[in-house]
Amino acid sequence: MRYHIWTVGCQMNKADSDKLAAGLERLGLEEAACPEEADLVVLNTCSVRQHAEERAISKLGVLKKLKSRRNLTIAVIGCMVGPRTDHLRRRFPYVDVFARPQEFDPILEAIGIDGEDLGDEFWPRTFAVPGGLTAYVPVIHGCDKFCSYCIVPYRRGRQRSRLIAEVKEEVEHLAARGVREVTLLGQTVEAYGHDLPAGQAGLPDRPDLGDLLRALHEIDGLYRLRFLTSYPRDMTERILRTVAELPKVCQHFSLPVQSGDDGVLERMRRGYTVAEYRQKLDLLRRLMPEAAVSTDVIVGLCGETEAEFRRTYDLLAELRFDKVHVAAYSPRPGTIAWRRMPDDVPQEVKRERLRAVEELQARIVGEINSALLGCTVEVLVEEEKGGKLGGPARPLGGRTRSGKLVHFSGEARPFDGLRAQPGDLVHVVIERTSPWSLQGRLAGAAGWGKAGDQAACLPERPTGLAAL
Ligand code: SF4
Repeated sequence: MRYHIWTVGCQMNKADSDKLAAGLERLGLEEAACPEEADLVVLNTCSVRQHAEERAISKLGVLKKLKSRRNLTIAVIGCMVGPRTDHLRRRFPYVDVFARPQEFDPILEAIGIDGEDLGDEFWPRTFAVPGGLTAYVPVIHGCDKFCSYCIVPYRRGRQRSRLIAEVKEEVEHLAARGVREVTLLGQTVEAYGHDLPAGQAGLPDRPDLGDLLRALHEIDGLYRLRFLTSYPRDMTERILRTVAELPKVCQHFSLPVQSGDDGVLERMRRGYTVAEYRQKLDLLRRLMPEAAVSTDVIVGLCGETEAEFRRTYDLLAELRFDKVHVAAYSPRPGTIAWRRMPDDVPQEVKRERLRAVEELQARIVGEINSALLGCTVEVLVEEEKGGKLGGPARPLGGRTRSGKLVHFSGEARPFDGLRAQPGDLVHVVIERTSPWSLQGRLAGAAGWGKAGDQAACLPERPTGLAAL
């Protein structure tokens, strides 16, 4: 039997799909490159934005035709599926199973496997993607915040943290299989532990994200740890100091601001003001001056005036984030904003505001990246592109500690005879920049965890690469 999984949405969905794929392979199913070659097709959906939902619906239309010609089991999982599925069953009667995020047993049942027979131990240890160097590990599920525009709490439920011991076992398992970088996931990842009892991993108090990072930092073979997504109110000084202190933890934050106007933040029910956000970011940058910070922004929320938008624009220009994920507001049925607030900002205005933010950010990130010209950055080599056989050097790609994409050739110059490969941690001298990526040349091997490796100008340290 062959399966195909189609995933849209956030890293949490990607992690769920990886876990499901690993489980299906464990049961002897093989991956198919496309739905046409599969017996089971799983759509892992997102409904945070209208566009993502429309893509899933159009994919379902394609699968309906495919199913009319041959035997096919179709499963829909992820955020499109809430606790009640009657309306989905009426609208898509050809779908065999609808399952909520992380509920995989109904999919197994649809292909004739009883999930209960597999026992409790079947899923937790199966996250590793064979050959993968990076992995996502969810550490807290759900969200308790109920921002007015967001569907996530209704689909993913209340906050539930995983035990430190369980996460540690999983990350040890990943590192033993060659994973070098792990990103810990949560909708509000610094809320980790708020729902756990005291006494975890020998700790006297309730654990927090800092305690989890400390526990994972000890794992041999793991070079880097990241975490996302941050929520300003949950980000404590204790967690920030832990990040600053632990060399394997990348000083790379995803800290959504969503708006630069207090009135809009209140309508969003974000639970902080612009001044409070600013204080948190100031603290972060004071403790880690080289930290990379990305943010999320929604433009065109119900009633957003030109002046309110302008305050967001000005804040982005002032705070100069490394990346801005910007989206135009679209009402999500069932949310507070959908129930109580008219979606009254015209589409054209939303599009203009979106474009304005994108243009501003392209300029800012272009400037931030061009400041890296001539600097040496630490890169985890993730991919090797097919360079010409016998050619001078193989093109390699990887990411800096701040998450920037870097392309470079695989042979060191002027240290001829040294070569890097996926999984190596190397130093790369940046020779060209653009708003989207960096290009450079290999300078040598990097030992992980040197303080100050955060996209700073480093002395070149050409040591330790395998000789040809
Ligand atoms: Fe949604 Fe707000 Fe929770 Fe983020 S913090 S997942 S935006 S409800």
